[in-house]
Amino acid sequence: MSDPVGRPVRDIVIIGGGTAGWMAAAALAHRFGGTETSITLVESAEIGIVGVGEATLPQIRYFNRSLGIDEREMMARTSATIKLGIEFCDWGKAGDRYTHPFGAYGETIGPADFHHYWVRQNTGGDAHDFGEYCYPIVAARNDRFALPDEDPASPLDAFSYAFQFDASLYGVFLSDFAKQKGAKRVEGKVVSVQTDGETGFVAGIALESGREIAGDLFVDCSGFRGLLIEQELETGYEDWSEYLPCNRAYAVPCAITDTVGPYTRATARKGGWQWRIPLQHRIGNGHVYCDRYISDQEALDQLMTTLEGEPLADPKQLFFKTGKRRKLWNRNVVAIGLSGGFLEPLESTSIDLIQSGIVNLLALFPERDCDAADRDEYNRLMDLEFERVRDFLMLHYVATQRDDAALWRDMRNMEWPDSLKYKIDAFRRRGIVPEYTHGLFLPPSWLSVFIGQNIVPEAYDPRVDLMSEQELAANLERVRSRIAAAVVQTSRHDDFLENYGATF
Ligand code: FAD
Repeated sequence: MSDPVGRPVRDIVIIGGGTAGWMAAAALAHRFGGTETSITLVESAEIGIVGVGEATLPQIRYFNRSLGIDEREMMARTSATIKLGIEFCDWGKAGDRYTHPFGAYGETIGPADFHHYWVRQNTGGDAHDFGEYCYPIVAARNDRFALPDEDPASPLDAFSYAFQFDASLYGVFLSDFAKQKGAKRVEGKVVSVQTDGETGFVAGIALESGREIAGDLFVDCSGFRGLLIEQELETGYEDWSEYLPCNRAYAVPCAITDTVGPYTRATARKGGWQWRIPLQHRIGNGHVYCDRYISDQEALDQLMTTLEGEPLADPKQLFFKTGKRRKLWNRNVVAIGLSGGFLEPLESTSIDLIQSGIVNLLALFPERDCDAADRDEYNRLMDLEFERVRDFLMLHYVATQRDDAALWRDMRNMEWPDSLKYKIDAFRRRGIVPEYTHGLFLPPSWLSVFIGQNIVPEAYDPRVDLMSEQELAANLERVRSRIAAAVVQTSRHDDFLENYGATF
């Protein structure tokens, strides 16, 4: 192989046409379409895709926008509903219910962060729920939605939204987009991989049909099997099952029987938890569990007996091991999607991790030699993302008071990673939420779980006591009323979809 230093990547090959593959193809085609760099995506209909990935995070809007995608068209083609957050049921104790919203709590009423004022009032006996101070939570509970308002005086300026959609249809939508921008799709099963003897780089792949495809840069979106990153390059996997033991899921869609609400729901169960994700034409349901705590049959029965409507397909069983590849970028192979790692879908983070992988790849886009410093930086950034998502997911399990089943008792008593311990201790002691400079979940997300799962700080910011009791009560009442009044002005969620031109 001639010296690749200083030579631009000319042929990008993406293996896999699931959500990861088509998101990567769309973004790369948007960047390189019309240039000398070609993009080829190989997928095998015979192998198929995972196809469960229905709930997203608000960041996906920036992804779509950066590609110039029309949001209404995307929503209409993917049966998308609005997602304002996730409602967690029975996580702290049986009967508890709180929402992790896509938005901030309260407003500035003094020098301390808003939640410290709420903590003082709440520990003093005031029963108003923390969620009443957050616009997207109140809107979600009332099945209402309006687009964010850029006027900082409006309660609608401090929130965001995401989508609940049919991920297979999102893939189809993105494949049309990517092909229009010049990406080529090849149907076929990869049966062998050629590597360069000197560098160990992947040089090309061969399909069952005998066709060979050469490339300079390979994006491995082949799903759990990690065709290039693992099967060929043997990169290795960091197994995080000791922190997040769930390892299986059943998924099944059901019919809609009532209004669906603009939010996802996650309900804690004996050996895991169950999701409910409403789309326009059906509800996606699934039970994520650990086979050490509950049998497959019990997990399936639990799911099927709690469906709201008629099942629309046979339940599908999925197996996974929580963790990530030791390197998400190894040699000239970048693993994006399930081939790079998997964390259970409790906070709908997989599609977002795909997006981060793509954005970081574009920001550090290499020459043919794939400089080691760029790879290291990519891996450092992605490791941080994965670790911080892991910690946030763990928080839901370890901050529980449940002792009705072995899973919950074990999670309460487990060793926490130092990074998580630091966060929990800071909140317990003084109600502080240390902010990351890099990472997905901002303080309002952590706050929602801390408070929602009954972690009460031992002390609040002492500056709160500068405000008199009457003034504090009046301020909190004003914030609540302002949000409640704003929500009443908005449309019902399904009316919004119709008026927005986003119906399926
Ligand atoms: P896949 O969908 O598995 O696609 C792999 C592709 O590789 C396929 O096209 C296949 O044909 C191709 N391929 C493989 N081998 C070969 C070969 N030899 N030759 C040719 N082609 C090949 N994410 C969220 O963001 N939100 C959620 O709510 C959510 N829920 C989930 C629930 C569960 C139970 C699970 C398991 C995952 C969930 N996810 C969720 C994750 C989400 O499903 C995935 O991140 C997403 O589907 C991306 O998958 P993928 O494209 O990496 O892999």
